[in-house]
Amino acid sequence: MSTRGISTDKTPDWRDQAACRVEDADVMFPDPSDKRGTRIAQAICLACPVRQQCLEHAMAVEGGCRRESRYGVFGGLDGDQRYRLYCRLRPSHVARLTRVAA
Ligand code: SF4
Repeated sequence: MSTRGISTDKTPDWRDQAACRVEDADVMFPDPSDKRGTRIAQAICLACPVRQQCLEHAMAVEGGCRRESRYGVFGGLDGDQRYRLYCRLRPSHVARLTRVAA
């Protein structure tokens, strides 16, 4: 079972609602060349009620990471898709993501 969807303190956390919290962690981290595995992970994200929060968190944590350093599916996007999204963000959005990650 994945622990990525389980918070460790008593305060409500968006991760408690993660659709992937009951999935094996490997499901959400398919090899980048595994298109079928990526589609399966993305289908889980499509039904997730905290998809937006998850994507913002992943983008904030990854920051300006290179494409090759972005692993897994978060917020319905694989690493390539998150990299392309990051490249299209305005500087003000990048600054906001930086504050989210702090
Ligand atoms: S959007 Fe996807 S990766 Fe993020 S918490 Fe939901 S199911 Fe998990």
